[in-house]
Amino acid sequence: MADATRAARAADAPGAAPRTAPSGSGRALSEVYDTALLDLDGVVYAGGEAIAHAVDSLRAARDGGMRLAYVTNNAARTPETVAEHLTRLGVPADPSEVVTSAQAVARLIAGQVPAGARGLGAGGEGLRVALRERGLSPVDSADDDPAAGGQGYGGPELPWGVLAEASIAVNRGVPWFASNTDLTIPSGRGIAPGNGAAVEVVRIATGHTKDPRVAGKPLPPMHRETILRTGAVRPLVVGDRLDTDIEGAHAGGVDSLLVLTGVTDAARLLAAAPEHRPTFVAADLRGLLAPQPEVVADGDGFRCGGWRAAAGDGGALMLDGGGDALDGLRALCAAAWTAAGTGGGRVSAERALGVLDL
Ligand SMILES: [Mg+2]
Repeated sequence: MADATRAARAADAPGAAPRTAPSGSGRALSEVYDTALLDLDGVVYAGGEAIAHAVDSLRAARDGGMRLAYVTNNAARTPETVAEHLTRLGVPADPSEVVTSAQAVARLIAGQVPAGARGLGAGGEGLRVALRERGLSPVDSADDDPAAGGQGYGGPELPWGVLAEASIAVNRGVPWFASNTDLTIPSGRGIAPGNGAAVEVVRIATGHTKDPRVAGKPLPPMHRETILRTGAVRPLVVGDRLDTDIEGAHAGGVDSLLVLTGVTDAARLLAAAPEHRPTFVAADLRGLLAPQPEVVADGDGFRCGGWRAAAGDGGALMLDGGGDALDGLRALCAAAWTAAGTGGGRVSAERALGVLDL
């Protein structure tokens, strides 16, 4: 097990060879890692409801001694509000266990301006509270002489005038910061514009001449904020999104678990670029409590559990066997990532995935 984890860490180190298969672990991940850095939407809840198995799995992981921290790019809500929401869903959480991109961007801003400076808070309450937490004074108008302008998700009620104040300030040369640049955000009724869309509005108003400094996943300030606040020694990033959660883990040299309860499906996982390949993959948060089966090379293919996968001559993935569908997916990951990593190009996964009931 230790060897498998060492291999996983080496494969994730910046500059190392690309990961070509999910790692195995002989012990439950909740025993191997001291802190789970959990994404929220698509991992713990979706559309306000807890995701299947999330509540029981998190409780069991915590009872087993794993610390839980909730890491969100959503800057609109305060840690108190997020903790209350989680507690209501049956996942007891303290505000100190929540880390938001608003906190990460507030620290970034505080490092660039004089102590106690004014900061334009173009976003929701989460951003204003985070600015105050760092000793800054949130203001609402470009005429209030802000030393910095921070943009964070303000929710569907964000007034257009807030974007106007941010645009005016940035056009006057006020340093520009953004909590995150996720273009979209899932709502209960479909996809809605995220903070990245609001950032684009301001960028348009600058004639595309300026760029904000960004804190959120997958960038280092968010990772730094999370490690500072949780004191994690052996963290495991748990997420549903390849280009934020998993890429952020990769950039920070931290192992990751992808769960398939959110935006990433099996086809996307198989096509993942090297920096988007997670250390482990599981159907849902029960994966925290379980050992991870090894993927082993077998001739020109890969075995995991009862399955064997290989990339055929025409680039089509082939899958034979039976058993746990996730094991089949792990074997397919090895075949697809290895083929892509050796110049085999994009593989076709449609038929092989049809064999799995995922
Ligand atoms: Mg998510």
